[in-house]
Amino acid sequence: MLMLHSAPIVLPVSAEAIADGAVLVDGDRIAAVGPRADLAAAHPDVRERAWAGVLTPGLVNAHAHLQYTDFEELNSLDAPFPVWLGRMVAKRPTFTSQMWQESTRRGLHLMLKSGTTAVADIVTEPEALVPTARSGIAGISYLEAVFEDARSWSDGGRVRMLAALDGAPGGRTVGVSPHTPYTIATAVFADCIAIARERGLRTHTHVAESQAEVEYVWSGTGPFAQSMTEAGKAMELVRDGGSGLSPAGYLDKIGALGPDVHAAHCVHCDAEDRELLRTRGVYAALCVRSNRILQAGEPPIAAYLREGSPFAIGTDSLASSPSLDLLEEAAALRALARDQGYQAADLDRRIVEAATLGGAAAMGLGDVGRLAEGARADLAVFALSESAEASMDAALGTVDTDAVYAALLDAAAAKKHRCIATVLGGTITHRA
Ligand SMILES: [Zn+2]
Repeated sequence: MLMLHSAPIVLPVSAEAIADGAVLVDGDRIAAVGPRADLAAAHPDVRERAWAGVLTPGLVNAHAHLQYTDFEELNSLDAPFPVWLGRMVAKRPTFTSQMWQESTRRGLHLMLKSGTTAVADIVTEPEALVPTARSGIAGISYLEAVFEDARSWSDGGRVRMLAALDGAPGGRTVGVSPHTPYTIATAVFADCIAIARERGLRTHTHVAESQAEVEYVWSGTGPFAQSMTEAGKAMELVRDGGSGLSPAGYLDKIGALGPDVHAAHCVHCDAEDRELLRTRGVYAALCVRSNRILQAGEPPIAAYLREGSPFAIGTDSLASSPSLDLLEEAAALRALARDQGYQAADLDRRIVEAATLGGAAAMGLGDVGRLAEGARADLAVFALSESAEASMDAALGTVDTDAVYAALLDAAAAKKHRCIATVLGGTITHRA
């Protein structure tokens, strides 16, 4: 079943913008992208949806925890990361299976209505996977291991992970998420990576989010060492007085970095760490608004850009983020890059690429985050702002691609952006 989605501006991201363009959709796939007139002439009987906006690929959120959408009250806690984490841990047992699913469902709704059609989602309660699988959203659900030492892992943690992987509902790709270097013992972390690789699955973990993590990995001390010890966990890094390495260096030493892995946050990464991530092919999923709320620091985005280190963009969960709107997150990341002195003309383009192509690459997915033949028919349409309209030359029938990238981010920075439609796998799932 063919459908032509047309718009005054089509921004494929994987190619230059097209004035008066269209995307021909066949079922759940994109059959062609080009000028509307050409596609309409080639398919004279095709049904058409004419959208009044900028048509882009659906956005790709590279780090989220959908199940924590209803933990929103914690995003105004105004406390440092270890305190916030303590509150998270205390709130978790108050949630039932049904509450996790409802919370996940609400997160999916917030994503779809803001133009996000793919997500790298961390799943701690396997039942939270059900609504995500049903929604048809693209991406990967990473089943999480957290607060595990060798004993708890062999006493049930490992079996629970394998059962969650085996029992995952169909229609959704799963992966493995060892939570962090400070909540997962070294041997357990290595085993998580081994389980993922044996099964040909991808891994997603949190890396170098806070200074407290850096201290823990380096010297086995600080608030995280204290809480793991109080919880009775036998952690190698605490026992051995740390690794004398950064979080990225430590993970590399235990074989946990590679092109099958992507890492959230990567705030406290120096030049050596960034080089390590780059050479290992590890995408950093940057979540700057969450970092700000948790007082965790700022990722060196200007350095990531200058060095060509691969990065994508995530919102993290509503427990530590003001919204699940990825375009807002992208605008915040652009503002930080400017604050850090990044002035090059490619900034807007690279930030939007990170919110689409970057997220896709972080998950190893070649068929999302772009408008191209054969890709999933995941589309978003954003209302035309004045600056987006100004990017078009009506007389010539052309559009300035860089001006479109800038217009999308400018609108989001001013909170004047509006997602007017979302198409997921060929089906319209949101219409404003
Ligand atoms: Zn996270």
